[in-house]
Amino acid sequence: MVKQYFMPTRVILGEDSVKNNPSVFSEMGKKALIVTGRSSAKKNGSLDDVTEVLSKNGQEWSVFDRVMANPSVECVYEGASFARSEKVDFVIAIGGGSPMDAAKAINLLACQDIPRDRLFSGNYGAEILPMIFVPTTAGTGSEVTPYSILTDHGEETKISIASPILFPKVAFLDAKYMDNLPRDITVNTAIDALSHAVEGMLSVRANPMTDAIASESIRMISSCFDALKKFQLTRNDRGKLLYASTLAGMVIANTGTTAVHSMGYSLTYYKDIDHGRANGLLLAEFLKFIERHRPDKVEQILACMGMKKTDEFKDLFDELLGEKERLTLDEINMYTEKAMPKKNIRNSIAVPGKEDVLNIYKASLG
Ligand code: NAP
Ligand code: FE
Repeated sequence: MVKQYFMPTRVILGEDSVKNNPSVFSEMGKKALIVTGRSSAKKNGSLDDVTEVLSKNGQEWSVFDRVMANPSVECVYEGASFARSEKVDFVIAIGGGSPMDAAKAINLLACQDIPRDRLFSGNYGAEILPMIFVPTTAGTGSEVTPYSILTDHGEETKISIASPILFPKVAFLDAKYMDNLPRDITVNTAIDALSHAVEGMLSVRANPMTDAIASESIRMISSCFDALKKFQLTRNDRGKLLYASTLAGMVIANTGTTAVHSMGYSLTYYKDIDHGRANGLLLAEFLKFIERHRPDKVEQILACMGMKKTDEFKDLFDELLGEKERLTLDEINMYTEKAMPKKNIRNSIAVPGKEDVLNIYKASLG
């Protein structure tokens, strides 16, 4: 079992950090591939800031803006063939987890010939272009992780590509891009970040360094719960959520996620439930499961949130999530079968068996 803390991504924080650091871009080469989503980067100022810097630097760029939420395998192969034809020197990802994850896979596939049936093999060469990431949601932490999570329609699930070569070189954190992030996306992404920090603390790979970072992330997110509930977030709150989500990304980059993420993928694939919300729906019951085996760890997590009992956690999540989706018994059985073989199921300090997974689904959504 490897327990380590490794973080090769340079993180530059603060308002206008993109515009104030043109040399970070000029060092990367002559031409950039910008990977982004369909519309938000054009409205929130992030794309303008990046292209202004490139333009002033005399650099060229091409834009691939066809990344959908929960990007598909087909989408990243399409992006890779575009990247090859544009002969780019580096990649800039702008957006939420979907464009950021897609950018990593596009880059990998543009640099290496990887057939479809070996995409998730984990065996890749070293070739990759340098990457700059500009997150515009505060949730996935993809700007500091070596993961690219893709939707595989063949397998009807989400699967991750994981490799140290997928760490971005630089991440810019500027909360101003999130000023107009709608309520649901803000809450769901904050829950995703919290889920990363919590799952990181419950991972077999957790260690004193990841625990320290995860604790800080949980405290930071918890300080924003009132603002999240009322959806009255200042720029400062947005900054805290972004910082906390990057910290949580640094945690899972080293610990991986656990059963919550593997169980959530079917909720997203079959029920179209946002990734962060899917985690949120399952988190309280997963904590209760862990509590039966490792009450000390759950106590530590709750203390970071100013709580003593898992019921307080559940009440908070009930309030944040509002009316919950319901699953039929057939759906629960099928999702359990899908979750069990996933690697992250076995990554937690108490490994849930099939019955446990079934019961977590039932208690959360039955
Ligand atoms: P997302 O799918 O990237 O974005 C959700 C929606 O928010 C999109 O419609 C997007 O618009 C919009 N949006 C993004 N930034 C905005 C802004 N500043 N203002 C207004 N709207 C904005 O959502 P996400 O939750 O950030 O990412 C989820 C993905 O990340 C999932 O695929 C998940 O599996 C993955 N993930 C990855 C990791 C990792 O370590 N790599 C960890 C956890 C989750 P556009 O249509 O323009 O994009
Ligand atoms: Fe996540």
